[in-house]
Amino acid sequence: MDNTKEILNELSALYPDAQPALHFKSPYELLVAVILSAQCTDERVNKVTAVLFEKYNTPEKMITLSQEELEKYIFSCGFYHNKAAHILSASHDILEKFEGRVPPTLAELKTLAGVGQKTANVVYAVAFGGDAIAVDTHVFRVSNRLGISEGNTPAKVEEGLCKAIPKELWSKAHHYLIYHGRRVCHSQKPDCGNCTLSAWCKFYKK
Ligand code: SF4
Repeated sequence: MDNTKEILNELSALYPDAQPALHFKSPYELLVAVILSAQCTDERVNKVTAVLFEKYNTPEKMITLSQEELEKYIFSCGFYHNKAAHILSASHDILEKFEGRVPPTLAELKTLAGVGQKTANVVYAVAFGGDAIAVDTHVFRVSNRLGISEGNTPAKVEEGLCKAIPKELWSKAHHYLIYHGRRVCHSQKPDCGNCTLSAWCKFYKK
């Protein structure tokens, strides 16, 4: 039986104010923050961007930094070498191909260096109000456990979620699933005893 509707209703009651945890004031700041957030906590990214964005909050300003200088700012986010390269390449692309503005479509976002499906989906949904479901580690795990969308790759889970959930709820559902993964359905020790979704959860029933 498909319990997606009941699950979404319960998630919306649990997390009515679900919203992105990353701090940003423009699509460009969000793009940089999302690139930095790979394999890193949002709290750590917010600390780093609070300092970085004081001076370097546009692609024009960002490319005045050398790779090494940018790495010093973002070192604590991990994978700093690749992340710095991606931020600088994407900034150059934005300036050269999109007149200095982060492009507002999924197809264009994905042409930026270092911007994959997940990053493009987040920026498209959060910065531009588009309909998209970004599948990060929490969305991947919780969707599989609940049985809303089962798949062994983020792409398969995204495809399943897009089929199971009405389009107008995609962006909200993304935040609901992240909140639930962070607060209750932890990776190692899911708190099933206190989870109000257990009646519909495939993992719990097993
Ligand atoms: S019942 Fe357990 S596994 Fe299922 S969603 Fe809740 S916490 Fe996660």
